[in-house]
Amino acid sequence: MYKMSKAPLLTAVQIQERIEALAAQIAPCDFDVILSVLTGGFMFTTDLCRHIATPKLQVAFIKASSYGNSTESSGELKISGLKHLNIRGKKVLVIDDILDSGNTMKELVHKLADFGAKELKTCVLLNKPARRAVDFNVDFVGFDIENKFVVGYGLDYANDYRTLPEIWTLEEA
Ligand code: 5GP
Ligand code: MG
Repeated sequence: MYKMSKAPLLTAVQIQERIEALAAQIAPCDFDVILSVLTGGFMFTTDLCRHIATPKLQVAFIKASSYGNSTESSGELKISGLKHLNIRGKKVLVIDDILDSGNTMKELVHKLADFGAKELKTCVLLNKPARRAVDFNVDFVGFDIENKFVVGYGLDYANDYRTLPEIWTLEEA
């Protein structure tokens, strides 16, 4: 059994302030497409997009899953939604919720290499440097956090907690 930490690790205000700063860094890069990784990345993607005010920025979604109903990755990554993806010749920013082992982003970027993007950069809201198992350098990071399982703001445990506007740690009850 798990329970939420008493106080959020990151408050809604902290998250929103950091996202505004990130958007100011990202906007001048003139990306053509934001490629958002579902499901965890949905809230971060929408809030970030709101602050990148340009009519020409497109948004596309793909789905990656490896966790099932646990706090440990099953190791087997499933990616769907690539079939109709058109990013040829475009400047693409891939957005996910969190970089943990790095497996998801590394494999995704490897798969996307065949799609002919002009430029491919990556952005995550959260980064757990202590957990990195593969060599992967992410281009934009919201927050570096400790090695704890977190939920809220898009991130789930067995599909719960995603709609909370803060990030919480999950502890064994
Ligand atoms: P990686 O492939 O880098 O190990 O893990 C990336 C994916 O695992 C993330 O997109 C996220 O879905 C999930 N994940 C990793 N760490 C956490 C965590 O602390 N909390 C939650 N809810 N999901 C996590
Ligand atoms: Mg994910």
